[in-house]
Amino acid sequence: IGRFWMPLTNLSNFYNQLLVAMASAERIFDILDTKPEVTDKPDAVPLPPIEGRVEFDHVWFHYEPDKPVLRDVSFTARPGENIALVGPTGAGKSTIINLIARFYDVTAGRVLIDGYDVRDVTLESLRSQMGIVLQDTFLFSGTIMDNIRYGKLDATDEEVIAAAKAVHADDFIREFKDGYFTEVHERGSRLSVGQRQLISFARTLLADPRILILDEATSSIDTHTERLVQMGLERLLQGRTSFVIAHRLSTIRNADRIMVIDEGQIKESGTHDELMAAGGIYRELYTSQFSWLLAG
Ligand code: ADP
Repeated sequence: IGRFWMPLTNLSNFYNQLLVAMASAERIFDILDTKPEVTDKPDAVPLPPIEGRVEFDHVWFHYEPDKPVLRDVSFTARPGENIALVGPTGAGKSTIINLIARFYDVTAGRVLIDGYDVRDVTLESLRSQMGIVLQDTFLFSGTIMDNIRYGKLDATDEEVIAAAKAVHADDFIREFKDGYFTEVHERGSRLSVGQRQLISFARTLLADPRILILDEATSSIDTHTERLVQMGLERLLQGRTSFVIAHRLSTIRNADRIMVIDEGQIKESGTHDELMAAGGIYRELYTSQFSWLLAG
């Protein structure tokens, strides 16, 4: 089981480091303790400001030779489209998002962002236009205000508060005696899982990336916070191309497109209603697994 989550762990470490280094982007790789999997080409160009079109063009990928993990995956996400990735563990969902952020290079085929092959642009210009929200939200020691401001270091207090309001985080923050100046601990121990997620949504909204990659948390959250997280997520997804490894039924049903990944291929693609009507894997997953998740 542990092995299935390795790429996300890598992503998580990277992102944590990235946040620390954000004030000085060129130092990102210096502070990584492992050699990055990919590096800039000598003639890499900065990716200009993007609209957020993401295209996989006959992508093949393996981590280890002769064990293909993605097998001829092609799709185009139009700017602003919200895509939910669903499918069994080990299907290749995390690998797809790892390739969008270029944590690995494809074995064959191309990943294109607004028509640019991700291998031709600088990693900094690519990743600075992406928001990445992982299951286990990382908070720094510092105040809630500081933690949200990591999304945009020059944001004013007013901008931070506006972002928190937009994702429905403002109310719970104000309930703390010190409000936005409440100290959080590195493990976020004073905050519930749901509250930490809301803070990461506010942080990401403030960064305003055109592409959003999100691994939805599976931890159970109390009903009230759950509702806030759902509304906050809807707000965060608006107007951004998003790829969500989705666990919550509301996220899946609201997606513009659901892609069912199994054995490294897109087996089905469509809206909830379309896929239910098709009576294939999605319907099977939905009836067996999602309804069970909901009950849990
Ligand atoms: P999902 O996100 O759908 O659970 P993953 O993309 O994490 O699936 O994994 C797809 C396949 O790739 C699995 O068989 C997994 O064991 C394998 N895999 C994932 N990461 C690595 C890695 N770093 N090294 C080798 N194999 C890996």
